[in-house]
Amino acid sequence: MSTINNQNCPLCNNPAKYEIFHDPYCKHFTCPSCVEFCIDAHSEHYLKTVPKEFLSKLSARTKETKSNHMFVMREPNASEMKAQPKPMLTMIAETISIT
Ligand SMILES: [Zn+2]
Repeated sequence: MSTINNQNCPLCNNPAKYEIFHDPYCKHFTCPSCVEFCIDAHSEHYLKTVPKEFLSKLSARTKETKSNHMFVMREPNASEMKAQPKPMLTMIAETISIT
């Protein structure tokens, strides 16, 4: 059993809840405004440094996420880092199928 924790949503700052997913590690948020999404520790830290408009865009994308899909914000993996031209990606935001 995983624990449900309270934390304000990193995208819209409304009171939200998360539980920890492992492998890969992320916080799975459920938010009254953004519905649900996953975010890793790297991205959560990164989002504290970005403009509010960027957060609004991400929040809009989570709301568009269809059922059986999950909106995920995560640190780029090693091969993604290598493939990127400068400037380096700081965060991957993608919608993945969870079927
Ligand atoms: Zn939210």
